[in-house]
Amino acid sequence: MITMKFGGTSVGTPESVRQVCELVRAEIARQPVVIVSAHNSPRVRMTDTLIAAAQAAQAGKPDAGKVTEAQLWMCDGLGVDPKASGIGRLLDRFDKLLMGIAMIGELTPRTMDVVMSFGERMSARVVNDVMRREFGMDSEYRSSITLGLRTDHNFGSARPDPRCYPAVAKQISDLGAGVLVTTGFIASTDDGQITTLGRGGSDYSATIFGAIVGAEEVQIWTDVSGVMTTDPRIVPEARSIPELTFTEASELAWYGAKVLHPATMQPAIENDIPVRVKNTAMPDHPGTVIHRKSAPSPDDGAVKSLAVMRNVSLIHISTGRMFGTHGFMSKVFDVFNRHEVNIHMIATSEVTLSVTTPHGENAEKAANDIRAFAAVTVEKGLSLISIVGEKMKGTPGVAARVTKALAQHRVNIRMISQGASEINIAMVVEGNQTEAAVKGLHGELFE
Ligand code: ADP
Ligand code: ASP
Ligand code: MG
Repeated sequence: MITMKFGGTSVGTPESVRQVCELVRAEIARQPVVIVSAHNSPRVRMTDTLIAAAQAAQAGKPDAGKVTEAQLWMCDGLGVDPKASGIGRLLDRFDKLLMGIAMIGELTPRTMDVVMSFGERMSARVVNDVMRREFGMDSEYRSSITLGLRTDHNFGSARPDPRCYPAVAKQISDLGAGVLVTTGFIASTDDGQITTLGRGGSDYSATIFGAIVGAEEVQIWTDVSGVMTTDPRIVPEARSIPELTFTEASELAWYGAKVLHPATMQPAIENDIPVRVKNTAMPDHPGTVIHRKSAPSPDDGAVKSLAVMRNVSLIHISTGRMFGTHGFMSKVFDVFNRHEVNIHMIATSEVTLSVTTPHGENAEKAANDIRAFAAVTVEKGLSLISIVGEKMKGTPGVAARVTKALAQHRVNIRMISQGASEINIAMVVEGNQTEAAVKGLHGELFE
């Protein structure tokens, strides 16, 4: 079996949905499990639009108009009957949900997950309907919730509970469909509350389902030809990378390469499943294959790719004499742990500990708690840029090239670190120098 995940733009127009059906049909012999994201049409990005509608409802203006219009435009373009497909009923329910949010004036993370779930629950129905009706394929739709995919209660970035996997696998095999179409991004707790895996989470769903069915391959179909040397939206000269190791891809995902949700690689690594990243609009392009060990090719540079994470906060924590005080680090990291703050980079001096984390409410709360025992300053709006490649290990001079290129482009490095594993050099720069830094580094390392 294989899993095939189609991102938002891959199901963004009626034409692209038909293209998706073609691609699935070509893989029919490998019993694909198809994982679908919410539609991202040129008119409407569905998940963003659902969120905006819920926020407006909370502020007293419930209006499902934009969501309904976009979804019905898609149904209309593909001849999907809203009633027979169940989409009409979902739109009605979404309308009522907005009224409820407006009435109570409250929008908890738990409610937000219900709100966001509508996107995938509608788009997966659309894809399944077209496969059956227009392409005559033996496909079945089941939401990941119905299939029994369970997570913890961490609304907004839930993690799957592998104990549910055997039962999900049994459901899938009992269904016996030629193609199963299911929802990316969403799942539920064991007591039936809807959860989401974090923005961009359908990539993660693809490898989770890959682990569940014991897939021979996970395919991630998106709007670029694989993982590239950097985000092509910043550097149009970015090139597709033919091969990455699991470790390289994990680092890139964790450090902000949006093409893969940060947790995507974990189930693939644990189950040794190769992941192929391909372009829905250019299926003949080989894209990128990510597997355990890529045979190093002689023309591989030491650096494979450059990831960018924006909206990063730099938190400086100082005491008089940090290392003199026993247990100081564990006290600090206890606080981060309690607020579930992810730390990406750490630097220490005798008196200061500096860490980077994606900006957010939890980081603010953690900083406040740490103020009880240390002086804390928070700088916002920075960017974390990381260069990744396993061959950097043992290749001298990479750091020198990096710092030279940044100096030439007048980019000030606020913080820099290279882990002992030597597969990643990460640096923090001012937000307004992000473009200059990425372009400068890409020019030096890849062009
Ligand atoms: P999907 O909806 O298919 O999940 P995303 O927008 O989440 O698509 O991810 C694809 C986008 O990721 C690309 O359009 C590109 O702008 C961005 N991106 C960032 N870094 C990279 C990279 N290293 N390689 C390829 N794409 C990248
Ligand atoms: N639709 C969700 C999002 O926009 C999940 C995904 O696309 O992967 O974040
Ligand atoms: Mg994505």
